[in-house]
Amino acid sequence: MSSTHPRTDASDPSTLGDIPAEEFTRHADALTRWITEYLRSPERYPVLARVAPGEVLRTLPDQAPEGAESLDAILADIDRLIMPGVTHWNHPGFLAYFANTASVPGILGEMLTAALNQNGILWRTSPALAELEETTTGWLRDAFGLPPDWFGMITDTASVSTLQALAAAREMDPALEIRRRGMSGRPELPRLRIYCSEHAHSSVDKAAITLGIGAENVVRLPADDRYRLRVDALEAALVADRATGYRPLAVVATLGTTSTTSVDPIAGIAAICRRERLWLHADAAYGGPMLLLPEGRALFAGVEHVDSMVVNPHKWLFTPMDCSVLWTRHRQVLKRTFALTPAYLETEEQEIALSHSDYSFQLGRRFRALKLWFVIRAFGVHGLAARVRHHCSLATTFAAWVHATEDWEVVAPVEMSVVCFRHVPVRFAGNEPGLAAHNSAILDRVNASGRVFLSHTKLGARYVLRVAVGNLRTEERHLAEAWQLLREGAGAV
Ligand SMILES: *Cc1c(COP(=O)(O)O)cnc(C)c1O
Repeated sequence: MSSTHPRTDASDPSTLGDIPAEEFTRHADALTRWITEYLRSPERYPVLARVAPGEVLRTLPDQAPEGAESLDAILADIDRLIMPGVTHWNHPGFLAYFANTASVPGILGEMLTAALNQNGILWRTSPALAELEETTTGWLRDAFGLPPDWFGMITDTASVSTLQALAAAREMDPALEIRRRGMSGRPELPRLRIYCSEHAHSSVDKAAITLGIGAENVVRLPADDRYRLRVDALEAALVADRATGYRPLAVVATLGTTSTTSVDPIAGIAAICRRERLWLHADAAYGGPMLLLPEGRALFAGVEHVDSMVVNPHKWLFTPMDCSVLWTRHRQVLKRTFALTPAYLETEEQEIALSHSDYSFQLGRRFRALKLWFVIRAFGVHGLAARVRHHCSLATTFAAWVHATEDWEVVAPVEMSVVCFRHVPVRFAGNEPGLAAHNSAILDRVNASGRVFLSHTKLGARYVLRVAVGNLRTEERHLAEAWQLLREGAGAV
């Protein structure tokens, strides 16, 4: 590694400034070739990184270089220092959590985002960002068949989208005066409550923690035998809480839960929320793209009645990390929640132009709409729908293999592109701890292969394995390999 570079002599003004653009071309060409090879065969890497905790840290220098290093030296270190610590989300054998993809158009969009270096603080700091974000979130809303008056914007993650939606929910009733007065030291303010199913994502609890609502005031309601929130349980909880003096604030319905992709009965929940004047937030972080398909529209019937909804294009819409879309029908409430313009940010166009900082917690924002624009255009709405449908059919195929095999069971309905299953040999009949240890050992063996990466979840007392299809490069042969490894793993432990 070179430790000095002629351009670091700070006493010589000709050595200051950026590296010349001509050099950019040379290195970008090299990097593009490297990325092309990577995308061509991510399978040459073990899908799950094989380093131990602290191992990457130990291979890196303790201190930043004092002298400049050449870009050649830096690029040469990618293979040696970075790749061993990379878990390959782009690998077709990545079947854990919710698989995703950095697609070619998404990567190109991300490159341009870095180069243009837009910061969408105000409309005038990047009119293209503001208006492309409005356009792309509108395109997706329409492609999903959602109401045309919904306002959309992009955040980094579903966790932040949900946090902002619940912040707006808290602002819906201005009489609470929480924006101005806060929540502490106010004996007249009732305890606010948020309701969701026992299968809702932990980001709901984190939002409640961050907003000062408190983890204890997230009421996790029981689900039915298909892992869907029970509407009768919601009704009962609301009656009990009102009788106790609590103030029900919002319900979070999940359209595609993280464990099993179950879908809460949105129409029934929406009817209650309208009657009780509760904000209804739909968490469709993964499941949202099902709305590209008629069967998804049927599954999510009633979704048009929610107050806000989050979908992550960085999950099942082939957009590289990170990109989450939040829509709400209450644009003005979101603005009332977050708009705060210091004198130095006042502009003459502020009444007529869209500044996203008026609608979000963050001030600065990345030009994420660019990669989303590339992705939607490069695949087309029909192309996106075809890919989502194909993933569902791959999951159905895998579930059929499991179903047809003795001593294996599918443990949840396959609604989308995820299969929950486990090995249930007779020797462990009725022995949940034994089954858990057995299936966990199978998982470890399969993941140690480096060929596929699966994760697990818990459904009540049951430890279950998950196969989540969502990467564009995953084909039936990769699922066949996973299935082969699973059966071998089950025989060997
Ligand atoms: C993945 C997921 C989240 C969290 O997503 P982030 O973007 O990582 O914050 C929230 N809810 C559901 C249902 C999810 O699947």
